[in-house]
Amino acid sequence: MAQDDVFKKLVAHCKEYGYVFPSSEIYDGLSAVYDYGQYGVELKNNIKKYWWDSMVLLNDNIVGLDSAIFMHPTIWKASGHVDAFNDPLIDNKDSKKRYRADVLIEEHLAKLEDKITKEVEKARERFADTFDEKKFRETNPRVLANQVKIDELNARFAKALNDTDLAEIKQIIIDNEIVCPISGTRNWTDVRQFNLMFSTEMGSTAEGANKIYLRPETAQGIFVNFLNVQKTGRMKIPFGIAQIGKAFRNEIVARQFIFRMREFEQMEMQFFVQPGSELEWFKKWKETRMNWHQALGFGSENYRFHDHVKLAHYANAATDIEYKFPFGFKEVEGIHSRTDYDLKQHQEFSGKKMQYFDPEKGESYVPFVIETSIGVDRMFLQIVSAAYTEEELKKEDGTTDIRVVLRLPSFLAPVKLAVMPLVKKDGLPAIAEKIVNDLRFDFNCQYDDKDSIGRRYRRQDAIGTPFCITIDHQTPEDNTVTIRYRDSMAQERVTIGQLRDIIKEKVSLQSLLKKL
Ligand code: ATP
Repeated sequence: MAQDDVFKKLVAHCKEYGYVFPSSEIYDGLSAVYDYGQYGVELKNNIKKYWWDSMVLLNDNIVGLDSAIFMHPTIWKASGHVDAFNDPLIDNKDSKKRYRADVLIEEHLAKLEDKITKEVEKARERFADTFDEKKFRETNPRVLANQVKIDELNARFAKALNDTDLAEIKQIIIDNEIVCPISGTRNWTDVRQFNLMFSTEMGSTAEGANKIYLRPETAQGIFVNFLNVQKTGRMKIPFGIAQIGKAFRNEIVARQFIFRMREFEQMEMQFFVQPGSELEWFKKWKETRMNWHQALGFGSENYRFHDHVKLAHYANAATDIEYKFPFGFKEVEGIHSRTDYDLKQHQEFSGKKMQYFDPEKGESYVPFVIETSIGVDRMFLQIVSAAYTEEELKKEDGTTDIRVVLRLPSFLAPVKLAVMPLVKKDGLPAIAEKIVNDLRFDFNCQYDDKDSIGRRYRRQDAIGTPFCITIDHQTPEDNTVTIRYRDSMAQERVTIGQLRDIIKEKVSLQSLLKKL
């Protein structure tokens, strides 16, 4: 199936099964804003718990924070967001569609890379066992020609971004004959800068209202509280502050469902270190965060690092962790070595010292910072993209059937078990209800007695429930039930008394955290 179709199906599935709804749908929606339904909110909460516990529970030197969305407007002047939190935008005059100019160029680069990958794959098939990929990449003229194009374009693009040379960015688009995907033409406007922050007014106009911003990242709330936490928590460097909260960006182009939203949630951790040690910590956090992703078991080949060519004004190293979405490898998390830029800026703009007294060195300094920053919603999309599977099943009469199953890691699944009486009589519903009432304190359980048992299994597969428990006529006789496993569809007969332990072992966050 084409990857575009897979993605469309995924979006439809999220809506049909109560995961994600367009915001304000009865008013035709609000662009790039979404609501999470009854299952979506559970998955989101579980993702947040996985992240929070891996930071705050597993590390003695990381503590949490919940700072306000509204902050003093000078914070955004100090951080550079008022002057520099811009994206370059460009319009196609024929389709009237708006694009991020940098993204158009990145997509063109990705196409050139795809051409190389295709050549390599073709050759791999042709030469089978004797294929030497390294040699092929070094000698094949078509691969080499494309590699030269990529390298030249990368260098030119990086320079244009670093110099914020908008005319040159447009020229790159023209020279590379990049066309609008809708109109197919090269009739472009000039490239302009667009600030991504939303603003509003605080206080009534009579008193002189203040322009304030909706935070575009949660990080600044951590920086301005750095000394509050350090002093009251008696934190010693190196230490980290973790925060989960909403962020807002007036994104130029917001397609691709919850990948790029105007209101979203971030999980950010700022790790304060001694100046000079930051690149070592940067390396360590790269590894730690990659392990966190891969522990979910979606296949290490689907993740990669993408080191930044253009560093943000505050960074001396930066990388993205990318996942292979149905629409290609894209960023899920950013890891940045932010130097002492933010704390120094706040020191200057507020006139307050932002220094740490290091008892071991006997001196005060402004710490350097490593940031790990991940979007909850983007992580959500990564997980459902990886989990959504369509399986072809052979039926007894020889025909085939499609089973849609969300293979969510058990800990993340919104509902852990569904308890189903085979029929709605003979005392079976009462037994099922009793099981639910006993287990509801441990797990999110669902009682389900509607439709045939096969349809009930399919409904639970579609929402990702890892276990279905069926109560049949044997149950009143010997206290046993069948437990059906979502992924293998295997069924096992166990006693009611065993259920708690069997399920606990498989759905606990502990076993996931222990892999880290
Ligand atoms: P992009 O290049 O995709 O715009 P970014 O580099 O601006 O992202 P960061 O500022 O590093 O992103 O934000 C950290 C994380 O926050 C991202 O890795 C992503 O998971 C999430 N994020 C950023 N912008 C959005 C958005 N508009 N919608 C959803 N998640 C977002």
